[in-house]
Amino acid sequence: MSNARTREDVVRCAAGAASLGVLDEEISDCFACPRLVAWREEVAATKRASFRSWDYWGRPVPGFGNADAEIAILGLAPAAHGGNRTGRIFTGDRSGDVLFAALHRAGLANQPTSVSIDDGLALRHLRIFSAVRCAPPDNKPLPDERDTCAPWAERELSLIRPTLRVVVALGAFAWQAWWPAMRAVYGVRPPVPRPKFGHGAHVSLPGVPDLLGCFHVSQQNTFTGKLTPAMLDDVFARAKELAGL
Ligand code: SF4
Repeated sequence: MSNARTREDVVRCAAGAASLGVLDEEISDCFACPRLVAWREEVAATKRASFRSWDYWGRPVPGFGNADAEIAILGLAPAAHGGNRTGRIFTGDRSGDVLFAALHRAGLANQPTSVSIDDGLALRHLRIFSAVRCAPPDNKPLPDERDTCAPWAERELSLIRPTLRVVVALGAFAWQAWWPAMRAVYGVRPPVPRPKFGHGAHVSLPGVPDLLGCFHVSQQNTFTGKLTPAMLDDVFARAKELAGL
C-alpha cells in the first residue's frame, strides 16, 4: 500500500489492487491531483455551518456496494459536503436522498436513506462509484484530473467484471467516461460517433455490459422536475430487467 502522488502512481496502484478492499484503501490515500487535494481539504477545514460538528472525510471517496454486483452506477464525483464529508458516495446530500429512495423502491438498497457511513445502508446486486473520486470545485473536474483518476474506475470495473451486466451512467460526464473505461477493461472499441447521452438511452454492444443513461440526481434536475422519481424508477426497472434480476 502506498500513497499515489502522480498519474503514474495511480496506474501502478490501481493495477496492483487485487481486491475491492485493497482498491478502496488505495483510492482513499490518493494525492495525485494537486488542485483537487487542496479543494477537498479546504472544504473539510472550512465546513458548511450546518455540519460544523462533523469531522469531514476530506479525502477521495471509494466505491460502495457489492463485489458481485450485476449493476453498476457510475457517477461524476463526490459532493463537497456529501461524500467529501461522510466518506461514502452520494451520502449526506440531497442527490443521495433522491437516489437511495429510488434504489430502495427498486429493491436494490435495504433502506431509503443514506446519511452516514455507519447508518446500516446495504446495497443488493449493486456497486456505486464515480469517474472522479475527489470533490471538484463547482462539480467540474478538469480533463487532466478526469484522465488521471480513470485507472481507479477501470480497476473497479475489472474487479466486478465477472458479474457485471449493466452500467447506469448518471449524467453526461459519466456517459462520456464510460467509453474509454469500456475500451480499457473490455478491449472493445467504442462506436463512432459515440451514442448520444439521454435519459433512458440504451447501448447494447457484444461482449460488454449494457449501458443505460440516466439524468443526474443533482438538485438542479430534481428540483426543476427534469428528473422525477418515476423516471428513476423506470431506469432502475430497466437495469434490473437487463441484468436478469
Ligand atoms: S481525483 Fe482521483 S486521481 Fe485525483 S487525487 Fe482524487 S482520487 Fe487521486
